[in-house]
Amino acid sequence: MAQPIRHDWTRAEVAALFALPFNELLHRAHSVHREHHDPNAVQVSTLLSIKTGGCPEDCAYCPQAARYDTGVEAQKLMSVDAVVARAQAAKDAGASRFCMGAAWRSPKDRDVLKVAEIVRAVKGLGLETCATLGMLNGEQAATLKQAGLDYYNHNLDTAPEFYGEIIHTRQYQDRLDTLEHVREAGLKTCCGGIVGMGETREQRAGLLQTLANLPEHPESVPINQLVQVEGTPLNGVQALDPFEFVRSIAVARILMPASMVRLSAGRQQMDDAVQALCFFAGANSIFYGEKLLTTGNPDVEHDRALFKRLDLHSLEVVEEANTVHADIMEADSAGCGHGCGCSAAA
Ligand code: SF4
Repeated sequence: MAQPIRHDWTRAEVAALFALPFNELLHRAHSVHREHHDPNAVQVSTLLSIKTGGCPEDCAYCPQAARYDTGVEAQKLMSVDAVVARAQAAKDAGASRFCMGAAWRSPKDRDVLKVAEIVRAVKGLGLETCATLGMLNGEQAATLKQAGLDYYNHNLDTAPEFYGEIIHTRQYQDRLDTLEHVREAGLKTCCGGIVGMGETREQRAGLLQTLANLPEHPESVPINQLVQVEGTPLNGVQALDPFEFVRSIAVARILMPASMVRLSAGRQQMDDAVQALCFFAGANSIFYGEKLLTTGNPDVEHDRALFKRLDLHSLEVVEEANTVHADIMEADSAGCGHGCGCSAAA
């Protein structure tokens, strides 16, 4: 019998899942995964940075923060035509959803109107749309919804008690407030975090507990592995054991059974065997093709070959075949590459 969807996980319960013997944890996560999803289907999204760099925030992982010398060149918001051309190319390459990230702390109303125009045009191509623009108020979220935006990405980054070590220019509550505005506007949420930033396992459990105890589980949960970028404060932090990353995916799957769990930033640094373990543990979404905001993503051909070796198929193929899994298409989103939820870096 399928386990009920819960929003009342205690920290101790989540920590106990992390502490299970590895094979036991994977078995449990995979069993939950099969109850809710086709275990051989992976949703594919493409992400484009539509406004890069120059961000006033101080997220310690992010090369787009203006205060760090990372070599990222600030670029203004792209034109509608330029974004549409990239979205069409992504669609031609097999993406079903197009995520647009902009490095703003919080967009001005005039920025939101420009993005709304872009959303309308991308939606017109028949793609689902997702945006990650930073903190939004209720009116801005409603404007984007009216333009046809399907998903909004806004990540919690890490556990509440570790947040102050990573970001000093905003509060955890700011994140929760934007998520509430987004939900109230009727947008689907894409919300996850980053692991490997020097947090403890207890704090990884805290991130996943907070996500699972939101009023509604995010439809999409990106789990990012820190990509260390020279010039950022987190460059040089001790790397996370890959099996600990797999555990994080497995626990996310158990806590949020119906959500799409996405392998996001850090996938390029992961070998194929670790990715395969992640798919077994419950990951069922990836970014594909385009650059993951400001750092690279495995190229399309490599991903295609990996899918073939693992007998995975993309959900686009499932949809064309009009099978029972088409409903999963409705339950996913794209998301920002890395963490912040505004336009994070990857
Ligand atoms: S993660 Fe987002 S909010 Fe933070 S510095 Fe980067 S672009 Fe700005």
